[in-house]
Amino acid sequence: MDCEATREALSAAEGRPLPAPAEAHLTSCAPCRAWAMALERLPERLAEWRALEPPDDFDARLLIRVRGGRRARRIAQAAAFLLGALAGFAGARLSQAPPPVPVAVEPALDVTDDYIATYSREPHR
Ligand SMILES: [Zn+2]
Repeated sequence: MDCEATREALSAAEGRPLPAPAEAHLTSCAPCRAWAMALERLPERLAEWRALEPPDDFDARLLIRVRGGRRARRIAQAAAFLLGALAGFAGARLSQAPPPVPVAVEPALDVTDDYIATYSREPHR
């Protein structure tokens, strides 16, 4: 029997005798013996346990922290809103197409009526 199965058997025993394989494992495994002793002492440890008493000013300190948290949350929300508005404004500005840049384009060939009249009658070489 391994450690996990032995500890499951210990948890399930609840005061009854352990199965022989679990007993055999306990004789050879110190960590499981320590685990078994801790399990035995658990009820008395739980009986010793007392709920913590909050300090007298607990309510006042809690309120201060909650209100401080709300204030910080409001500031964060306002900052997020402003950043969103700025991003929207910048996005709107960027989405406007820039004005066209005037480009002077020279015609590659000045084809006028005179040019056509002059050269269309001559045979091409
Ligand atoms: Zn073990």
